Amino acid sequence: MYAENKNSGQNAPHPADNAKHHERGSLETPVQFVPGVGPYRSRQLERLGVQTLGDLLYYLPRRYLDRSLIVPVAKLDLSDREFTVVGEVAAFKIVGGGTKRRRFELDLVDASGGLRIVWFQGIQYWSKAFKRGQAIAVSGKTHHYRERLQMTHPAVDFLDENESLGLKAKTGTIISLYSSNAALRAIGLDSRGFRRIMAEGIKLSAGHVPDFLPEELRSKYNLLSRADTLKMVHFPEKMDQKEEALKRLRYEELFSVQLTLARRQYLRKAKQQGIKFPHPEPGALTSRAVKHLPFKLTKGQLSVLTDIREDMESQYPMNRLLQGDVGSGKTAVAMMALAMAVEGGYQGALMAPTEVLAEQHSRTLGVFFKELGISTELLIGGLKTTERKRRLKAIVSGEVDIIIGTHALIQEGVDFAKLGLAIIDEQHRFGVAQRLKLRKKGTTPDVLVMTATPIPRSLALTLYGDLDVSILLEKPGSIKPITTRILNGSDRDKLFDFLKTEIGKGRQAFLVYPLVEQSEKLDLQAAVDSYKELKGGTMKDFQLGLLHGRMSTEEKDRVMTAFSSGDIDLLISTTVIEVGIDIPNATVMAVMGAQRFGLSQLHQLRGRVGRGEIRGVCALVIDPPITKEARDRLAVLAETEDGFKIADADLRIRGGGEFFGTRQHGAPDFKIADPIEHRDLLEAARRDAFEWVERDPDLKQFVPLRAHFERAYGPRMELMDVG
Ligand code: ADP
Ligand code: MG
Repeated sequence: MYAENKNSGQNAPHPADNAKHHERGSLETPVQFVPGVGPYRSRQLERLGVQTLGDLLYYLPRRYLDRSLIVPVAKLDLSDREFTVVGEVAAFKIVGGGTKRRRFELDLVDASGGLRIVWFQGIQYWSKAFKRGQAIAVSGKTHHYRERLQMTHPAVDFLDENESLGLKAKTGTIISLYSSNAALRAIGLDSRGFRRIMAEGIKLSAGHVPDFLPEELRSKYNLLSRADTLKMVHFPEKMDQKEEALKRLRYEELFSVQLTLARRQYLRKAKQQGIKFPHPEPGALTSRAVKHLPFKLTKGQLSVLTDIREDMESQYPMNRLLQGDVGSGKTAVAMMALAMAVEGGYQGALMAPTEVLAEQHSRTLGVFFKELGISTELLIGGLKTTERKRRLKAIVSGEVDIIIGTHALIQEGVDFAKLGLAIIDEQHRFGVAQRLKLRKKGTTPDVLVMTATPIPRSLALTLYGDLDVSILLEKPGSIKPITTRILNGSDRDKLFDFLKTEIGKGRQAFLVYPLVEQSEKLDLQAAVDSYKELKGGTMKDFQLGLLHGRMSTEEKDRVMTAFSSGDIDLLISTTVIEVGIDIPNATVMAVMGAQRFGLSQLHQLRGRVGRGEIRGVCALVIDPPITKEARDRLAVLAETEDGFKIADADLRIRGGGEFFGTRQHGAPDFKIADPIEHRDLLEAARRDAFEWVERDPDLKQFVPLRAHFERAYGPRMELMDVG
C-alpha cells in the first residue's frame, strides 16, 4: 500500500511478535491476553486475521438485534417479512426418517406461547447445539404447517442469561451479532462468546485508544472519538449510536484509502521522472495531423488534448483516464496523442481488448498515418512465426512508430525501442496487471486509458483514484440520436421485414445473439442456426456474414473487412462486436435475447449504429417468457442515451460489487464503507485527503492511521498501486 515506506508492509514484524514492547491494553496487545481469549481461542481468531486487541475491536458485528423489533410468539402472523422471536428452548428432537423426511424440531417458548422450529439440513449440528432452558433469538419468515405457524432454518443467536433477562425486563438492550463459523462455535465463539470477549477487550483498552484522526476532521463531521466509536459499535444503547459509530469507521476507511491515492498522485507528480515531450514548433507533425483529419475536432476533444499535451510536456509521467461515452470520438483523441509522441521522437502503442477492434484501429490508423509519413504495425496473437518475428524486429529496432495490438503487445518477447506513450482503449476490459505490464514496456512512458464505460464518479474515484480524469461530454455532430424499440420474441417476422427494408435501401445491419459462458456452445449454435436459416430463406437475396469468437483471427478479419467495405449487408454475430466497432453505413442493431445483457453492454452495442448520416435504430428482442422486470429494465435504454444514467440504473439493479467485475479489476475491497451507498462521505473524504497531502506531503500525522490500514488490508490494497 505504501510502497515508498520500506519499513512497513508485509515484511514488518508483526505487532504480536514484540508484544513485550507494548503497554498492556494498547491496541497492539496480542489478542490472547484479552481475558476470556487465551492461547487456544487466539489461534482460531488469527484465522480471521485477528491478532491483536485492535484487530479484535475492529471485528465488527454483522448485524444488530433491536429489541424493539422482537415479536412475541402470539403476535406472529404469516406476513412475508422477517420476524425475530426471543424465547427459551423447551424441547427438541430428531424426527422422521424412513418414509418421513428426517428433520430436527425445536420448540421455543416465550411468555405468550410456543413456536415450532424445523431444520432439514445440518441436523447433526443442530441436535447438539441446544440445551433445554437456554435463551435464544431466532430470525426468519413464518409459514403454516398443519394449522400451526412454524419457522424453517431461521438464523439463530444464543443469548446470555442476563441478556435474555434484559430482553424480558424490557431494558433498552441492542444485541450485536457476529459472524462465526463451526470452528469458532466449537470453542464458544458464537455471537454470545464474541460479545463477552468484546466487553473484556473494551475494558482492557480503556485509556489506550489514541485517536488517529485529527481533531480538525473529527469536528468537521461531528465524528465520535475512536474510543467511543469502538465501544458503541459493539455495545450501542440505541440504534443511532451504532449508526454514529459506523459513520466514523466508514469515514476512517474511505479517508485512508483516499490518502493513499492522494499520496501516490503526489509522488508521481512531484518525484517521478517521466518523459518531457518538447513543446511543438508551428507546423509540426501534430498540427499537420489535426488538419489531416476528415473532420474538425470538437471543443471537447480539443480540451482533452490540451490536458494530454500538458501532461506529456511535464516532467511527471502522465496517468490519465479519458472517459467518453460511446461515439464521443475517443479514437481521434488517441490518434492525435500518438502523433504527439511520434513528433517527440518516441514510439506510441495502442492496446485494444479484442482482435477485431485492434484490427479496426490498425486499418484506420494505418491509412491515416501513412499519408503523414508515419509507420504503423499491428501485433496480435495467431500471426505466423516469420511474420511475428518480422514485426517484433521492426518494433524493437524503432523502425515502426505506432504499434497497435491486443494483449499480444504485453507478452514477453515484445520489446520497444523507445516507448513514450501507451494508450489503452476500452480500459475496463483489462485487468490492473495488464495495464501495469504495458507501462513496463517503456521507461516510465505516459499512459492514457480510455473507457466508454461511464463509471459512476464514486466508483471511478476508487477504481482510478490517483489518475487524472478527462471527460468527453458532447458527441460530434455526426452522431445522431438512435431510436430504440423493445420487441417480443414473437415479433421476429416484423423485425426481419424491417431489416429487409433497411438493407434494401443500401444500409447495413447487425443481428446479435447473446453468448453466455455456461452454454457457450448453445448460444453459438443460435447464431449459426439463424445464419443458415436466414441465408436459405427470408434473407436469401442479401449478403450475410457470420462472426463469432471461435473463428480464427483471419476469418474474423475477413468478415469484418467485408462488412466494413459493404460487401456484407447483415452481420450475424455473437457479442464479439460489442465494443468500439465503427461502421458509418450500419443503421440497425438488432439484439436477440436482450434480457440477458447488462444495460451498459446493450448501450455499447447500440452505439455501433447511427454513426453516419442516417439515424440508427436499435431493436431489443426479448425471449419469452417476458417478465415485467426484464421489460422495465430494458425500458431504461429506450428512455435515455446518456451512458451515465444507464450505468447508474445498471448499478442499482446489479449492485456495486457486480459492477463490471470491479473486484477482478482491482477495486479496493472495502470492509466497512460502500463507495456507492456512502458516496457523499467518499467525496468528502477524498477532498480532505487531497487537501491534506498538499499541506503535509509526507503525511507525518497519519503514520498510525496508515499503519492500521496497511495491517488490516495488506495485499488487497497493493493492487491500487498500479493505477
Ligand atoms: P468512441 O469514443 O466510441 O471510440 P469513435 O472514436 O469511434 O468513438 O468515434 C465515433 C465516430 O465519430 C467515428 O465515426 C468518428 O470518425 C467520428 N468522429 C470523431 N470525432 C469527430 C468530429 N470531431 N467530428 C465529426 N465526427 C467525428
Ligand atoms: Mg472507441
